[in-house]
Amino acid sequence: MSPLHRSVLYGFLLAALVTAPVLLFVAAPYGRHARRGWGPTLPARLGWLLMEAPSPLLFAALALSGGLPRDAATAVLVLLWEAHYLHRAFVWPWRLRGQRRPMPILVVAMAIAFNAVNAWLNGAWFGGLGPGYPDDWIRDPRFLAGVALFLGGFTVNQHADRILLGLRPPGTSGYAVPQGGLFRWVSCPNYLGELLEWCGFALAAWSPPALAFAVWTAANLVPRAIAHHRWYRRTFPEYPPERRALLPGVL
Ligand code: NDP
Repeated sequence: MSPLHRSVLYGFLLAALVTAPVLLFVAAPYGRHARRGWGPTLPARLGWLLMEAPSPLLFAALALSGGLPRDAATAVLVLLWEAHYLHRAFVWPWRLRGQRRPMPILVVAMAIAFNAVNAWLNGAWFGGLGPGYPDDWIRDPRFLAGVALFLGGFTVNQHADRILLGLRPPGTSGYAVPQGGLFRWVSCPNYLGELLEWCGFALAAWSPPALAFAVWTAANLVPRAIAHHRWYRRTFPEYPPERRALLPGVL
């Protein structure tokens, strides 16, 4: 790894460790936690598109800069990344339902910066910065377990998001108590699924940039799941008392 990539990677990891405790006290101001005082805003759909587009585009440009993936494991990992992020950037914004609260430009700008650094670190790793993978890595238990975890997480994330998006009748902006699937046990199975995806990716890729991304995902989503959970309890007196925030029976 080049000295520049190593320095950026350490800075990126350090930023995650600083951000997590801050987010425990200050929920990122979009969606149900949107509030005044965060400056000018953009329509939510445009915000999601701008925030997420660097992830599939910059990652693909770097990972494929030398041509097709160097080995089978790299090809699988690039495909997993693209499957997640092409959906998140170019499909998800058009699945949003009802009246959407606008998103502060500040949130969008911070997310663009985060996604650009993350895609740069991970894309460059697969594009030649990392050593590549030996042929038998696709049979290594870490790779197999990681890919299984990613696919399981992707399924959980998609299923939970589908339930959430189905709660809001067209033209309305209210919230309801989600039911079914992993909502039986936790308030934010979509975040749980996302966390499983990137932990699985880090296991399968066995690389410092993928590990940094998994740490960042936890730094973002654990505090937000706690904030959502508290909000549900405050807002719905009948909220199921046995339901936890993110991890069934634990948190
Ligand atoms: P939320 O769970 O807050 O919201 C998802 C969508 O469902 C929004 O459109 C929201 O509307 C709507 N919604 C949520 N709860 C309800 C409810 N009870 N009743 C009616 N509608 C509801 O997820 P985010 O918007 O924070 O994230 C979207 C996706 O992006 C998730 O899959 C998440 O995993 C991923 N993500 C990944 C991050 C990472 O670091 N890798 C960081 C952040 C998100 P509204 O927006 O109006 O609240």
